Amino acid sequence: MKKLLVELGDRSYPIYIGSDLLSQSELFIKHIKSKQVVVVTNETIAPLYLNAVLKNLQGYTVETVILPDGEQFKTLDFVTQIFDKLLASKFSRNATLIALGGGVIGDMGGFAAACYQRGIPFLQIPTTLLAQVDSSVGGKTGVNHPLGKNMIGAFYQPQCVIADADVLDTLDDRQLAAGLAEVIKYGLIRDAEFFEWLENNIGALLARDKQALAYAIEQSCINKAEIVGEDETETGVRATLNLGHTFGHAIETGAGYGKYLHGEAVAIGTCQAADLSRRKGWLNDEDVARIIALFKKAKLPIVPPEQIDSDRFLELMAVDKKNVDGQIRLILLQKIGMATLPVDVDQDLLEMTLKTYGR
Ligand code: NAD
Ligand code: MG
Repeated sequence: MKKLLVELGDRSYPIYIGSDLLSQSELFIKHIKSKQVVVVTNETIAPLYLNAVLKNLQGYTVETVILPDGEQFKTLDFVTQIFDKLLASKFSRNATLIALGGGVIGDMGGFAAACYQRGIPFLQIPTTLLAQVDSSVGGKTGVNHPLGKNMIGAFYQPQCVIADADVLDTLDDRQLAAGLAEVIKYGLIRDAEFFEWLENNIGALLARDKQALAYAIEQSCINKAEIVGEDETETGVRATLNLGHTFGHAIETGAGYGKYLHGEAVAIGTCQAADLSRRKGWLNDEDVARIIALFKKAKLPIVPPEQIDSDRFLELMAVDKKNVDGQIRLILLQKIGMATLPVDVDQDLLEMTLKTYGR
């Protein structure tokens, strides 16, 4: 087992990464400071892993909340079900919440923990690759609003993150690949050596080689923990985690809800960002070819959907959180392993990318 630390002063916490961690009671007990525990999970994950978690909680007063599975349930209404259970069970301010699931459950459970009686401790047990390398680390919690994704939320850090690579056995190939898009992102924005490792080991990752997966999760979490330690609330370097995401969000929205997984849209968006970085004179042709080749090998899409033309892209990209005074701002690449902070983009270069890359 590997143990990393997210360094945030008195809110610092460990990330445990390894195999067979769900059965290690001491990991759980160490981070639970009360007798009352609520486990939040969903209908898909409960039959697979809830019992393994509950086995560690003998002697505690345990309640469970099993939510329906899906991004469409990541709303205040369903977070209220968690509050209902906590209140009906008379759980007090030192009760602990355990979020067992992918990014949806992690974001909802974390947000419920941030709000219940103004904040109770919580543990993240991420069960998707995306959640293990990205969403469970860093304290962004929240839910969607009908008018915008992740628009209601809080920064609220967990007591620990327990990332057990064994649970990925039951994850389907498409979800695994989607998680790899965010893994590749860490290499691109700040870790050229890791990018090269990924080029050489992408086959092992797709074949679910346990050692390779544990290494990729560890390197991703090291990178994320360093960024979050430097910039918890995204006033600076944390924005680089958005590489490919402005294009990606436009693809997710423009193609219609549920057509692309987030990681798939980010893969395409990162290829577009790489193309634009080349037009800026930062990347060369070979860099761009390497980036596209790696996403392709990871079984991720690399070409934007035909139905979103350049005008529609511009329209969709105009509503991004990074924009200032209506100007589109993007994270681009100076080189492989080094991202820019948000930069204003010349409209004509952006249009060239939108009109020619993948068309
Ligand atoms: P998800 O939580 O919807 O999980 C994907 C699917 O896999 C679901 O159907 C889930 O039930 C299933 N599943 C989960 N674990 C499984 C397992 N071990 N075996 C079999 N099936 C399993 O999606 P996700 O990709 O994990 O997370 C996406 C969410 O994360 C989005 O809501 C996004 O906004 C959020 N997110 C948050 C942050 C953050 O910093 N907080 C970062 C990135 C993404
Ligand atoms: Mg993302």
